[in-house]
Amino acid sequence: MDAMRQSRLSKQEKGKNELKCKICHRNVEKKGYCGFHVEAYKNIIQKYRFWQAASGISWKEYLRKIADSPLTGEWAREVAKHLIKVEKT
Ligand SMILES: [Zn+2]
Repeated sequence: MDAMRQSRLSKQEKGKNELKCKICHRNVEKKGYCGFHVEAYKNIIQKYRFWQAASGISWKEYLRKIADSPLTGEWAREVAKHLIKVEKT
């Protein structure tokens, strides 16, 4: 009996862990992203406020700039590309 209950429990936990990041195959941490990509996502949002205030750039233009910039880190670039793809639809 105990073994049955345990296996049901572990199945539920497994299902929870099967949620994957929208971009890579790591487990989801927050907002559908893994720990690395959610950090990059937060950075992108934060920086956009400055960019928009300074130059009035649109969200899409900003994302394209990030995706194209050689200064962008790998994580942020992946998030930007993902967001561009999502915005198109
Ligand atoms: Zn990820």
